[in-house]
Amino acid sequence: MPFSLIPHRVLDRYTQVTPRLLERLGVQLLLCDLDYTLAPKSVPRPDETLRAWLRDCRDAGVTVMILSNNRSSRRVETFCRDLGISYVGHAGKPSRRGYRAAMEQTGIPAEHTAMLGDKLLTDVLGARRSGVLALMVEPLGGPVGPWNHVLHLLQRPFKAVARRRCTNQ
Ligand SMILES: [Mg+2]
Repeated sequence: MPFSLIPHRVLDRYTQVTPRLLERLGVQLLLCDLDYTLAPKSVPRPDETLRAWLRDCRDAGVTVMILSNNRSSRRVETFCRDLGISYVGHAGKPSRRGYRAAMEQTGIPAEHTAMLGDKLLTDVLGARRSGVLALMVEPLGGPVGPWNHVLHLLQRPFKAVARRRCTNQ
């Protein structure tokens, strides 16, 4: 099967990943990137919107876990403890290691797993390599710093293809 870097679906932000959409996609395990996906990097604690979204996912029977490359394990740890969810830190995305660890931990197979993230070369590439659904969001709070601006410009064509494919379905 030819390898693809195109995400399966692109959304503006994580709140658009509704329990209804997850059910339709057959997702039981939702792996989430943290920075710029669920919160801007400058935000140290989960806000009420995130807590409510997480509650809705849980109520729908979806397990949510954080899969983060963040160098500071303290940030991920504090965030997840606060939310009461587990995480795989230093996941090394796009390595398959973290994705596999999360699926093994929960006993949920790849066909019922999705990855939600804002970066193509870590979140989406890792998802594609692991055979899980790749859901991509625009960076929450906007890209920060010159490197992230360039990166998000480079990601644009890939997201445009995914958006086009989705509307044609
Ligand atoms: Mg991110």
